[in-house]
Amino acid sequence: MARKAIAPTREMVSVECAYCQGSGKDPFKLLSPLSACGVCGGKGQVQVEVPYVPCAFCSGTGIHPRSRLTCTACMGKGVIHVEEPTTTCPTCGGLGMDPTGDLRLPCTTCGGAGVVPA
Ligand SMILES: [Zn+2]
Ligand SMILES: [Zn+2]
Ligand SMILES: [Zn+2]
Repeated sequence: MARKAIAPTREMVSVECAYCQGSGKDPFKLLSPLSACGVCGGKGQVQVEVPYVPCAFCSGTGIHPRSRLTCTACMGKGVIHVEEPTTTCPTCGGLGMDPTGDLRLPCTTCGGAGVVPA
């Protein structure tokens, strides 16, 4: 008697690490020129769940727009998992920024993706 699995399968894919652009090295050499990228651990690739969209908050760079730290919305991956179909976030209008004017924070509605599940 096999039970039907009701949990959707979480499909993960490897994408190039946005923060280090696939180099595996810390792009800002904050610790040392030899330090590994803190996002991908030096592998140059990160795992993301599909489907995903480019992070609107950091424009897909993986770098926080107000600092040189990793983007707090996508954790430096440059992409954010959002279930399809998606629609433009009504709170930030797709910018991924907190609409209250605090540009250090990603939009709380879409988490910085700029889109939300429709
Ligand atoms: Zn990296
Ligand atoms: Zn981001
Ligand atoms: Zn939003």
